[in-house]
Amino acid sequence: MPNETRFNSNGVAARNGLQARVAWGSNIVTIGGGAPVRIQSMTNTDTVDAVGTAIQVKELALAGSEMVRITVNTPEAAQAVPYIREQLDRMGIAVPLIGDFHFNGHRLLTDFPDCAQALSKYRINPGNVGKGDKKDRQFGQMIEAALRWDKPVRIGVNWGSLDQELLAHLMDSNAQLAEPLSVKQVMYQALISSAVGSAELAESMGMQANQIIISCKVSGVQDLIAVYRDLGRNTRYPLHLGLTEAGMGTKGTVASAAALSVLLQEGIGDTIRVSLTPAPGESRNQEVVVAAEILQALGLRAFVPSVTACPGCGRTTSTTFQELTQQIDNFLRDQMPVWRKRYPGVENLKVAVMGCIVNGPGESKHADIGISLPGTGEAPAAPVFIDGEKRMTLRGDAIATDFQAVVENYIQQRFGAAATQSST
Ligand code: SF4
Repeated sequence: MPNETRFNSNGVAARNGLQARVAWGSNIVTIGGGAPVRIQSMTNTDTVDAVGTAIQVKELALAGSEMVRITVNTPEAAQAVPYIREQLDRMGIAVPLIGDFHFNGHRLLTDFPDCAQALSKYRINPGNVGKGDKKDRQFGQMIEAALRWDKPVRIGVNWGSLDQELLAHLMDSNAQLAEPLSVKQVMYQALISSAVGSAELAESMGMQANQIIISCKVSGVQDLIAVYRDLGRNTRYPLHLGLTEAGMGTKGTVASAAALSVLLQEGIGDTIRVSLTPAPGESRNQEVVVAAEILQALGLRAFVPSVTACPGCGRTTSTTFQELTQQIDNFLRDQMPVWRKRYPGVENLKVAVMGCIVNGPGESKHADIGISLPGTGEAPAAPVFIDGEKRMTLRGDAIATDFQAVVENYIQQRFGAAATQSST
């Protein structure tokens, strides 16, 4: 049945889809059906290294990942999963763990019940569950485990591991048509048929539709948009959205933002992952930071106070302005794990750090709190604007530290009061 699209008051579409629940203990993460778009990520540690994996899961969770996927590829990895869960529970990290299975998931989920129980969701790739007559049987074993342990699943199809038997069948059928589709269109059909067909098969085995999340990941921006628009229109399953193999650094970030923004604006995508390749030594958390930035830039969610900063130009010939912007941004991010609990609503704060008098005072007045630094040739003074009014002028070498103190004081006054009221 075609899926109806509604629109929120801010103009962002809201898809009328089902809602899944991925839980660990009392931490229930709702996906789809009007829930906020969720962020997830995946570890790149060896799962057999239970301590190392638990530490990375914790870091990803603290960075804002609401679910974390781990590779479960061998009996040793499956044995490690309950220990990873235990370590996280001891650290007070209730983030749901998702097991990523390929080729042998049917055996691992059957042979290692403690692993099956410790996971909160199973990712099944229909292209990698087996060939020929084994395919449905092995897929069925994974669904049986999901039913036995009452876990939702993600039917996660990927362009790089597409069911080749299904693709060949669709290619043959297409060739018989009077007006055949292009190879690319048949590929899209194959991705969608694989996901939706497998989801329907899981339902026929007893799973509820709202326990099934689906995804069809591709690495091309326009391909992803075409495939997910089709899924958004024609299914009600909650959708996991992400550009697979997005790449490194700026390229991966921009490609992910471009693809996800178009779809999220249309209400398509209930949980997202940004698949960035970290540079050597780069934190895995970066994929979570980018996912949060995409959602925040679209106005779908707020995670950290936003810092509006001008790009700088010939009027900012020293690096003072850049350094202050970076310091304030880092300061706000670093404080958030504590502030989130202490100052409810602080993530909606808007701070402006501007480089000179041209747009500085104006932009600062639009923010909750803003500073307009002196440009080259201006008097060495930085007016600070609070709630649209000029309240003080900072001078000297400690402008950055002084401004941080002003921001912190503002947060205490405004959001600390909210916390006190809500606790009385
Ligand atoms: S506010 Fe001033 S420093 Fe910043 S970009 Fe505009 S003119 Fe340049």
